[in-house]
Amino acid sequence: MSDIIQLLPDHVANQIAAGEVVQRPASVVKELLENAIDAHSDHIKLIIKEAGKTLIQVIDNGVGMSDTDARLSFERHATSKIRAAEDLFEINTKGFRGEALASIAAIAHVELKTKLDREEVGTEIKIEGSEVVSQEVCVTPKGTSICVKNLFYNIPARRNFLKSNAVELRHIIDEFHRVAMAHPSIRFDMFHNGSEVFNLPTANHRQRIVNIFGGKTNEKLVPIKEETDLVTISGFVGKPEYAKRSRGEQFFFVNDRFIKSGYLNHAVNAAFEGLLKDKAHPSYFIYLKVDPKSIDINIHPTKTEIKFEDEHALYAMLRSTIKHSLGQFNVAPILDFNRDSSMDTPYEYKGKVAQAPIIEVDRNFNPFQEDKRIGSGSSSDKKYTTFKKESAASWENLYVGLESELDSTTPTENEFSSIEFESAEVTGSLFVSEDKKVGSHTTYQLRRKYIVTTIKSGMVIIHQNRAHQRILYEELLRNITMASAVSQQLLFPLILSFSKNESALLETVKEQLENTGFVFGALSLGEIEIKAIPSVVSEKEVSILFEQLISDLENEVPDTGFSQTDLLARSIAKSIAVRTGVELASEQQQYMANSLFACTEPTITPDNKPTFITLTVDEIDKKF
Ligand code: ADP
Ligand code: MG
Repeated sequence: MSDIIQLLPDHVANQIAAGEVVQRPASVVKELLENAIDAHSDHIKLIIKEAGKTLIQVIDNGVGMSDTDARLSFERHATSKIRAAEDLFEINTKGFRGEALASIAAIAHVELKTKLDREEVGTEIKIEGSEVVSQEVCVTPKGTSICVKNLFYNIPARRNFLKSNAVELRHIIDEFHRVAMAHPSIRFDMFHNGSEVFNLPTANHRQRIVNIFGGKTNEKLVPIKEETDLVTISGFVGKPEYAKRSRGEQFFFVNDRFIKSGYLNHAVNAAFEGLLKDKAHPSYFIYLKVDPKSIDINIHPTKTEIKFEDEHALYAMLRSTIKHSLGQFNVAPILDFNRDSSMDTPYEYKGKVAQAPIIEVDRNFNPFQEDKRIGSGSSSDKKYTTFKKESAASWENLYVGLESELDSTTPTENEFSSIEFESAEVTGSLFVSEDKKVGSHTTYQLRRKYIVTTIKSGMVIIHQNRAHQRILYEELLRNITMASAVSQQLLFPLILSFSKNESALLETVKEQLENTGFVFGALSLGEIEIKAIPSVVSEKEVSILFEQLISDLENEVPDTGFSQTDLLARSIAKSIAVRTGVELASEQQQYMANSLFACTEPTITPDNKPTFITLTVDEIDKKF
């Protein structure tokens, strides 16, 4: 039998290697930025068009390359950074595998211009699919400029696999952040489709973080510092009260390289134990310096996972360093047995008997009562403008009243007449059932969590939070798709601040958000002005709603318009649905039951969890 094994031609081998190194435009951005850093540049420009699908260009003012090196740099395993296997354990550069440029050149059109400082002229090389198309002498400033055009032009499957521009741009910005945060002494600029996205001057670590994530970040940071033989730890953790539901701002850098580590992340969380709200994640920007000999970076082609020699010790040190800082900066409660507790009460209050606060409750308050005073022909626009501010308060009152009824405080009768009026108006859309003849079924609320009611065949137990999620979800979907939502104007526009990344995420669902009833004003750097909100949302819920939304968007980047709409409706419904623990009046219980069964898909929440269970009379009989 004849021999069948052949050596793969270089361009095929390069394409295969490219599959590991270059997954998407952001991977190219990372490799090119890292090469520019390794070339000792102090100013690096990143220029992107169409989220990197048509152009990724990196211009640096580093050492540049000779004409021979320029040509060689595109060969596989061509690197100036290591010479022997031993060097793998002494790595002080970002790159060392010598395969990034070869991989990129295999799957794109690449143009390189480069010049050494001491030379008069530089070199220009054009490569398409691993083939050198031209090499010429050119006039160019000191340093290197690399253009990568038409990524994956020769691998249609990969190109089609790319996500929407918004998603790919987000990945690029993530990589840009990581590199920029690790190297604050280098100036970075980034442009997308001709406009400047980032302009990061030379700074220290703290300033760089603030420049990237916005001015408000500064007050949220607690510095950490520790130096031992094994490791030098520096950087910042976010104060616990600013912890978010999204994992967005969590960064580890080891020897100025961004890395991912579930194990170290666990150490940070352990340090925050007991300080965070449920499901909140602390932000952190942690820089570790270790002896290059004590780590192995070469376990993954993208070099974002590394092996530490003494992981356990590192874990313990990191945890105690953070704990110590949180305590020292008075962020965490510290036990101090020597403290004079008489200092705790201001002098003039000493000996005074504490008075219970009085909560005013209107027991007759009925949010569903039609108010005769409305509907006298005022235009709907005007109606909403006059009601704006109070609407949130009245919506809360719906619950405040209910909750404090349990606490049995002194109710005052007349205080709420005006609010009752507003509530009838604003919550009307939320809680008044289309079927006014409710009440024919008796409902009962169990443990402020379930609504129990009867049906012909037996009984139904409804999960109040999940049922409300389903009801809101369908209503929101309807509103978004038909753009038929009702807004309530805010008297004072809300200003919420977000990082650029978060803003970019929100931008992807802006239209759908507007269809739910949000009206946005000016969008400036990292800030969003909200002028009006959907009538089903209260002003107080807005920031939580956005936080949840960003976290959801980060977790499952939706692609199509449909999945965006779906995610948005799901996320908002989750944020504003009535929680477990809230007592519901019987009208509300009935509203809930009726609206749930009027849904298209009443049995499950948008996240596929059951909303109710039934117990038939047969089943009950069997139990006796
Ligand atoms: P690696 O970075 O792992 O060495 P690359 O394929 O990324 O491999 O680059 C190959 C070589 O090309 C580098 O080792 C370096 O000598 C040279 N090079 C690449 N980019 C630049 C640049 N921007 N400035 C100077 N030299 C560069
Ligand atoms: Mg490299």
